[in-house]
Amino acid sequence: MAGEKRYAVVSCHVERPLDDLVWARFAALQASRPAGFRIAALLRPPDPETGEDESRWLERARAAARHGPLGHHTHWGGPTQARPVPALDPGDSHVTVTGDGPAGRVRREGAWLREAGLRPTLFCGGGWYSDESVAEAAAELGYADCTATSFDPPYLELNAPRLHLDAPARLELPSGRRLVEVPSTHSIGMLARALPRRLAEPLVHVYFHDSDLLDRRRSLALRAALRLLALRRTPSDLDRVVAAGVDRDLPFDAVLPGPVPRTIARSWRSLL
Ligand SMILES: [Zn+2]
Repeated sequence: MAGEKRYAVVSCHVERPLDDLVWARFAALQASRPAGFRIAALLRPPDPETGEDESRWLERARAAARHGPLGHHTHWGGPTQARPVPALDPGDSHVTVTGDGPAGRVRREGAWLREAGLRPTLFCGGGWYSDESVAEAAAELGYADCTATSFDPPYLELNAPRLHLDAPARLELPSGRRLVEVPSTHSIGMLARALPRRLAEPLVHVYFHDSDLLDRRRSLALRAALRLLALRRTPSDLDRVVAAGVDRDLPFDAVLPGPVPRTIARSWRSLL
C-alpha cells in the first residue's frame, strides 16, 4: 500500500498560469525538481467568461506535463472564486453554479482538456470543494483526486462541503465507481512546523499555490522545507503513488464532514 512506503509527494495549485511572472517562477521551480521532487501541476483551465487565452494556456500546460504529473484544478467562479457560490439572483452575471451543478463544470473542462490532447491524471477541487457528484465526475474522467485534506482548512466552516482523509484510500462511490483519493497533508507553513517533530502521516503530500512563489520568503521556505523533507521521506510523485496501488477502501460517506462528529468518524475509520 502506498501509505506504508514512507514517501512524500508535492503538488502545486497552478491558478495563474497566464500571469507571466507567476508562470516563470513555477516553471523554473518545477523544472529544477527541488530536492528530487517531481511537482504535480494542478492547473486551473482557462475561464471562458473572462476571455483567458486558450492557446497560451495549452502551451504552458504541455510544458508542465513534461516535468511532472498533470492535474485539473477547477475553480467554479473563474480566477478569483474557487468554491461554487449559488446565485441569489438568477439574473446575476456572476452565477458560478450552472444548471448542471458543480460536476457539470468539471465534466466540461475535462472534455475540453482531452479534446486539446492533454491527459491529466489528477484532480483537485478549488477551495477544497467536493461533493458526491464532483467525485463521480472525477472518477468518470479517470482521475485520482487530491481534494481531500488531512487537516481542517481554517477558512472553511466545519460542515462546509469538502473531503477529510488522513491517508490514501479508494473511495467507493454510489455509482459503484472507485476514486483513488490522495489527501493533501501539509501547506508550506504546516510542513515547516511539522519537520522538527515526527511526521505522523503515512504519505506526506505537500501543496502550495503558484502565487506563493511571488513571495521570496515563502519560496525560500518551500525549497528549504523540501530539502529537509527529502531527508525524512523518499521523494516520489503523485502518478507513481497512484500507480503503486492503494488498497484501503472506504465508503464515500466516510470522508464527508458532519453530521458524524469528526472525532467519532476518525476512530470509526481507523477500524476499517
Ligand atoms: Zn485554486
